[in-house]
Amino acid sequence: MSSNFPELPIAVIGAGPVGLAAAAHLTERGLPFVVLEAGEGPAAAVRQWGHVRLFSPWRFNIDPAAARLLTDAGWVRPDDDKLPTGAQLAADYLQPLADLPAIKPHIRYGARVQAVTRLGLDRVRSLGREQTPYLVRLADGEDILAQAIVDASGTWGTPNVLGASGIPAHGETTAATFVEAALPDVLGRDRDRFAGKHALVVGAGHSAANTLLALAELAEQAPGTAVTWAIRATSPARTYGGESADALPARGALGSRLRAHVENGTITLITGFSVQSVVVDGDQVKVSDGEQSVTVDRIVSATGFRPDHTITGELRLDLDPILGSTRALAPLIDPNEHSCGTVPPHGIDELTHPEPGYFAIGVKSYGRAPTFLLATGYEQARSVVAALAGDWDAARDVQLDLPETGVCNSNPVDGDDTIAAGGGCCGAPAPAAVAEPAGRGLATGIAGGLLTAPLNLITLGDKPTEGQTGSCC
Ligand SMILES: Cc1cc2nc3c(=O)[nH]c(=O)nc-3n(C[C@H](O)[C@H](O)[C@H](O)COP(=O)(O)OP(=O)(O)OC[C@H]3O[C@@H](n4cnc5c(N)ncnc54)[C@H](O)[C@@H]3O)c2cc1C
Repeated sequence: MSSNFPELPIAVIGAGPVGLAAAAHLTERGLPFVVLEAGEGPAAAVRQWGHVRLFSPWRFNIDPAAARLLTDAGWVRPDDDKLPTGAQLAADYLQPLADLPAIKPHIRYGARVQAVTRLGLDRVRSLGREQTPYLVRLADGEDILAQAIVDASGTWGTPNVLGASGIPAHGETTAATFVEAALPDVLGRDRDRFAGKHALVVGAGHSAANTLLALAELAEQAPGTAVTWAIRATSPARTYGGESADALPARGALGSRLRAHVENGTITLITGFSVQSVVVDGDQVKVSDGEQSVTVDRIVSATGFRPDHTITGELRLDLDPILGSTRALAPLIDPNEHSCGTVPPHGIDELTHPEPGYFAIGVKSYGRAPTFLLATGYEQARSVVAALAGDWDAARDVQLDLPETGVCNSNPVDGDDTIAAGGGCCGAPAPAAVAEPAGRGLATGIAGGLLTAPLNLITLGDKPTEGQTGSCC
């Protein structure tokens, strides 16, 4: 991809694992770049969930170009078979990568990108578009010109809402101080907000499961701690997974432990609950689906994430109407069909938008699909940077070779962070025995059919929610 502005930098948005991988590939290719990171250091999002153990071992969490640069600088590679926490991923890999002399001078921290457009052209103007550089506006008003954009800004900053219809529930915005984003550090830095309190966890994915298990542990330590779990589905079977027969051992173990806490009453489960209203009630908050309600001290919203396309509103993007990825990528990552282990490797061809030179990579590229893996993101970075360097053979030679077992498998042995040999993976045969996970890992690589659990659909005959101002139809 030849640029009309080879002297201008390629702007990489975000210094998370995938943005930094892009920086490593750009360094190896000798292309000019600047990494614009909103946080005050690298891996700002990963550090937020630093207390959570990854489900994929180190060997799949390190970009090959980054490893080459780091090794040349004397870095000692972590044990490939160990499962790091988010904090370890940041401290033992991403921070040293960001600090490499070849990369560090090109990263700007505290640089939040507010908008990306073409200099002097809005989205409608066609004439001369490709001969016009990108203009990147930062939140402080500074404008930066760029020859191309690699958007690796993730989705962590834009969680889904509690409201079952995809928009905030009635009162959700007003009650914001009672609502926690996914994966609070319940046993660590956020403990005081939960100890001795009644918490409601909303969501049926593995981030909900992880938080519920941590809250159940807290309930054993701190008297008065109560835990309620609300799901839209009519059964928690999807969250419990296959338990001892689960293809993902750690997921199976999480599911079994969660089921035990529900059965022994530590966690109160409410099924068929679609949040419609959130009403502040003194020091507490009442959450209702129109028929059932629960009054609690804190709400943990574990309802997933969505991409923020507002910063690129003036670019010509061909977004899949369902997922918000590119249209070409959507069928490859569809959570109705795929787990993390079955997403095929992909690169420049699946990531290309009508706006030449703009690419979203990393978890943002998947839109709302929860099937992203770092390993696929690193391959995206390699392919896109090869294309930006004009090396189309390399760009189209998608190289990722994910083994059928082990990539999204956390099966720690005997309470440490080492995975068991021969453990199953997404879609792979289940192992005979399941070890207890040592950390609170999150298996986002959920097998296909994620969205097929039956929901209690809201019908027109349902009673209006108390405090609800709008009416349907
Ligand atoms: C709890 C958890 C566990 C996971 N475990 C695994 C695992 O085991 N294996 C696996 O393969 N994947 C895992 N994932 C999925 C995925 O790999 C991670 O979400 C990963 O962090 C995605 O990397 P990223 O670089 O695309 O985005 P992020 O890590 O989210 O990085 C984006 C960066 O962009 C910055 N940013 C955002 N907006 C702007 C802006 N407007 N301007 C400038 N900077 C901006 C952010 O501050 C952040 O530093 C996990 C995800 C979660 C949440």
